Amino acid sequence: TYVVTEACIKCKYTDCVDVCPVDCFYEGENMLVINPSECIDCGVCEPECPAEAILPDTEEGLEKMLEINTKYSAEW
Ligand code: SF4
Repeated sequence: TYVVTEACIKCKYTDCVDVCPVDCFYEGENMLVINPSECIDCGVCEPECPAEAILPDTEEGLEKMLEINTKYSAEW
């Protein structure tokens, strides 16, 4: 899955949401999040993010952010 990170906070762009083929972006408290069980790992959103806030969960140190993405996308 891909994960939205801190760089998204207060970002006003939603380019990622527009390109996601499975609509798995959701609104968190002050940032967008990706629902890990819906993300198909296509990678299309990553280059679209002007804040470079979207990373694959294979990157180091994303456990906390993955938790946040999971939590806020589950509330919908
Ligand atoms: Fe959507 Fe693909 Fe990004 Fe996952 S990797 S959030 S499916 S655009």
